[in-house]
Amino acid sequence: MPCRLSKGHPGTFTVEHKYPFYLTLDQGKSSYFLGSSCGPHGTMDSIVLILGLHRVGRPPANAKIRGLFVTPELLSFEIWLLKKLGYRFATLKDALLAPAGKIAVITFDDGYEDNYTVGLPVLERHGVPATVFVVTGDVGEKAVVWDEAGEDLPADMLTWEMLAELQSRGWEIGSHGHHHVHFDRQRPDRQESSICQSVRAIEKALGTVPISFAYPYGAFSGATKALLRQVGLRFAVTTERPAPTDLAEPDDLLELKRVAIGGRRFYHFFRCASRTLTATGAGDVIRSLIPVGVRQPLAEEASKRNS
Ligand SMILES: [Zn+2]
Repeated sequence: MPCRLSKGHPGTFTVEHKYPFYLTLDQGKSSYFLGSSCGPHGTMDSIVLILGLHRVGRPPANAKIRGLFVTPELLSFEIWLLKKLGYRFATLKDALLAPAGKIAVITFDDGYEDNYTVGLPVLERHGVPATVFVVTGDVGEKAVVWDEAGEDLPADMLTWEMLAELQSRGWEIGSHGHHHVHFDRQRPDRQESSICQSVRAIEKALGTVPISFAYPYGAFSGATKALLRQVGLRFAVTTERPAPTDLAEPDDLLELKRVAIGGRRFYHFFRCASRTLTATGAGDVIRSLIPVGVRQPLAEEASKRNS
């Protein structure tokens, strides 16, 4: 079989095939992963798939950006699908501080009240946590509309009490800035004050210094990233979609890509599955189809061949 063996971390080998998937063997644990393509170093200790969501519920008829809403049914389906593909769920910081195996991260941007009233019961039912990025200047506000958002549907936001409860239930509270603006259009001093104000507000209200950030509108400049580093924010998510290699070896932890999930109609389930499978790659699907009893002998046989 046309393949090439490359060695990564001690005890792991990656067999690179001419086909668009790869096999990583961990000799110590006799376990293996099938992924979709090789990262630049040919190793794959962990894959982190990050989902990007906003509101939970059914969009009202007058909503302009309906894709911002995910229904409880679609959210449940996505969690079911990822569990079937072998993913466990963690907050963003837990996933990236201690990456191991296949991890899915649910993130909510903006801090809408429905994340607590509608989203939390769904996630609790599945026993999974989430990470919510709040606009600290709007926490607890009612009927919020942002000029630059292109959506004039007023939204109620999470209160600090709700955020404290979410945190006590294992959620991570990250920053989305103090105001919901395009950071790339702001002078660096304005960006700095928005980031610092936001970090201080979260620390004061919840007693935890945030280390994760989401760029409003996915917009940032080199100055924004430099400021995040200065302030101690270690992870930042964009609105870009990931390729399978990005999940295994993200180039930059301040430019993490996410799979956007949203919608309420039947075809949105297909779109959701297709975006997820495109990000995870064909290898994940193949692996999930192999019966458990067949996986272990296959891994051991390959391990013997390569030792
Ligand atoms: Zn936002």
